[in-house]
Amino acid sequence: MSAHIIDGKKLAESVRAEWKMRVEKLIQLGTKPGLAVIIVGDNAASSLYVRNKVKACSEVGIYSEVHSFQQNATQAEVLDCIRALNQNPHIHGILVQLPLPAHFENNRVITSIAIEKDVDGFHLYNVGALVTGNTIFFACTPFGVMVMLEKNQIPIEGQHAVVIGRSNIVGKPMAFMLLDKGATVTICTSKTRNLAQFTRDADILVVATGKPRMVTADMVKPGAVVIDVGINRLPDGKLCGDVDFDAVKEIAGFITPVPGGVGPMTITMLLCNTILAAERAQAGIQIG
Ligand code: NDP
Repeated sequence: MSAHIIDGKKLAESVRAEWKMRVEKLIQLGTKPGLAVIIVGDNAASSLYVRNKVKACSEVGIYSEVHSFQQNATQAEVLDCIRALNQNPHIHGILVQLPLPAHFENNRVITSIAIEKDVDGFHLYNVGALVTGNTIFFACTPFGVMVMLEKNQIPIEGQHAVVIGRSNIVGKPMAFMLLDKGATVTICTSKTRNLAQFTRDADILVVATGKPRMVTADMVKPGAVVIDVGINRLPDGKLCGDVDFDAVKEIAGFITPVPGGVGPMTITMLLCNTILAAERAQAGIQIG
């Protein structure tokens, strides 16, 4: 039997409609949520992501501004910009588009963002808060995955969740979010011996490797929930995920496509985090 295909685009639209109402309420109270995006250099993919974020903001009524720096900008210049945004009451969320040029220290830059404005959830304080179960902002991509599971009424507690990938932006926060919901979590990496032995035991399999179609049908337990985070550009220009979608959909119970799966949810959760930050500011809630 073919898997249920989780339509991330449709789900993202319905989540955005829900949160748009919260924006309208905030505006009535005198607070328009505001997001500042910092981009350094001229990486084409990063510029596209930033444009998509700005567009998504305007669609739900969030004010946004982009601070663009040349590739050879100094870290001090960027830190000055972040300091000013931290103090700006019209800006509730700040994000620094990654990757930064090699001469930047990622952690130094990210930790200069005020924790109550760290809508990407990458600040070390927020990472610690996630690990201790006191999350301030969930990192957007794994947050989107959790919403996909919840909206499809997929049980997590007691399930064996296998996450392939241990990056700070996807794999690790994903694992902690699943753990927090009571899953038994296994994290696999490029160093894992006999990967299929773990994936075949997964009730929920989240794949975030950046390796096109590396998860094949023989690696998946019948009926499993397969979440494909990967976005890979093939030589013919088409996009594909880290999962062999056509074959795995015949085995899995649920599966996300690429494109149209996790991707649209990531930007949506950024909007949600920005709105949440604005709601906290409006209510005078102190963070940290
Ligand atoms: P990273 O390159 O930072 O991490 C990849 C992880 O996958 C690493 O931990 C690596 O292991 C592991 N890995 C690589 N190859 C294998 C393998 N053969 N077997 C097992 N594990 C492997 O990538 P990201 O986490 O940043 O991104 C992963 C993918 O998700 C990319 O395609 C990216 O484009 C996509 N992405 C999609 C988003 C969305 O919104 N849908 C958002 C963010 C990312 P090791 O640590 O040992 O090297």
